[in-house]
Amino acid sequence: MSTFWGPDFAALERDDPEIAGVLLDEVDRQRDTLQLIASESFTSPAVLTALGSTLANKYAEGYPGNRYYGGCHQADRAEELAIARARSLFGADHANVQPHSGAAAVLAAYAALAEPGDPVLAMGLPHGGHLTHGSKANFSGKWFHPIAYRVSPVTELIDYDEVRDLALAHRPKLIICGATSYPRRIDFARFREIADEVGAYLLVDAAHFIGLVAGRAVPSPVPYADVVACTTHKALRGPRGGMILCRAELAQRVDKAVFPFAQGGPMMHAVAAKAVALREAASPAFAGYAQQTVRNAQALTVELAAEGMRPVTGGTDTHLALLDLRELGVSGREAEARCAQAGIALNKNAIPYDPAKPAVASGIRVGTPSVTSQGMAEGEMRRIAGLVATAVRSDPETVSGSARLAEVALEATELARRFRFYADAEQDAEQQVLV
Ligand code: PLP
Repeated sequence: MSTFWGPDFAALERDDPEIAGVLLDEVDRQRDTLQLIASESFTSPAVLTALGSTLANKYAEGYPGNRYYGGCHQADRAEELAIARARSLFGADHANVQPHSGAAAVLAAYAALAEPGDPVLAMGLPHGGHLTHGSKANFSGKWFHPIAYRVSPVTELIDYDEVRDLALAHRPKLIICGATSYPRRIDFARFREIADEVGAYLLVDAAHFIGLVAGRAVPSPVPYADVVACTTHKALRGPRGGMILCRAELAQRVDKAVFPFAQGGPMMHAVAAKAVALREAASPAFAGYAQQTVRNAQALTVELAAEGMRPVTGGTDTHLALLDLRELGVSGREAEARCAQAGIALNKNAIPYDPAKPAVASGIRVGTPSVTSQGMAEGEMRRIAGLVATAVRSDPETVSGSARLAEVALEATELARRFRFYADAEQDAEQQVLV
């Protein structure tokens, strides 16, 4: 009979009180403040258990049944489960669950589909795209030839006609859609049409919204894309990491692009944790969470708009909203700092055609996966919008502003503590002891 050997916090506190202190303080931060970072959510205790397991010790370069190390039987079982669950959840021919991160998944997708120097058409960073979509600071901009499409200056929606015009003019090898700060659904069928017209591969970077796809809260890109690159740690609520889904014909190219091209040994504890998260994501409860996440984002956006923060594109149909603060005369950087002081974690964000520098930015991005995981609904979104609005308007340099920020922080803590994500786990554990 096997016994599980898992994290022993008392030993860590004894042997390394400094790091133990960091971990305790982070638990407190996550419990006592409001998390509105659009790319974060809460992982279940089961996911954390897999992450803290002895699979962390195992080298398993290669793929199930074909490893470069001995002793991989358990690693094979974990990875096979993760692959099967990903394929079944997303209806994909093939899944690779080894990418260490979203950026690593995108790098591998480029490697599978294009050669250095090839033209790649993707959304520009200032319009909501990701660094891996052609930034000069990233491999994608240094090793490939990026062409950026934009959103319309009027509607702030993707301008599909411009995407087509650019595709016809530049004949890209690869077209990428999927973004970091775009609040609307993407028309994958339209992108497929454009890619087919110019003979390009279509890569959907679903890092942000793959969790919503799993919960059937937004349409799936899988039927349209050649390759879908994802993270597993955002709305999907898995461990930090990446994943790639693709058509059967591309399976070998994708696998070789992940290992040995881009990575060495997989993080098997993370692969096991991905398997756990993928199983959870197939449950009706997860679909409820994904759908409520979108409803909460919509409710939060309406309330913030009423407070004078203009929603880019007029609203959202995903888990996030982008808000233009220019009417309030507060920069994104100031708003982020004020909210942080008031116990609300969110991030500054450029808005399309932003006159401010990226480090200052005219907007903020808010997301609802974390607060929805905590069990909050539309009523709480109204309350959160009020807290965000008060915080954004409170100048910490003034006595009254700093007092108001302190009041908001108390209210944020009260609300966050009322909806503790990990409280259930503790209660379950207590109940199990009683049983
Ligand atoms: N792609 C998109 C669209 C993202 O938003 C992100 C992360 O924010 C990534 C890729 C990169 O993911 P990671 O931070 O795991 O490398």
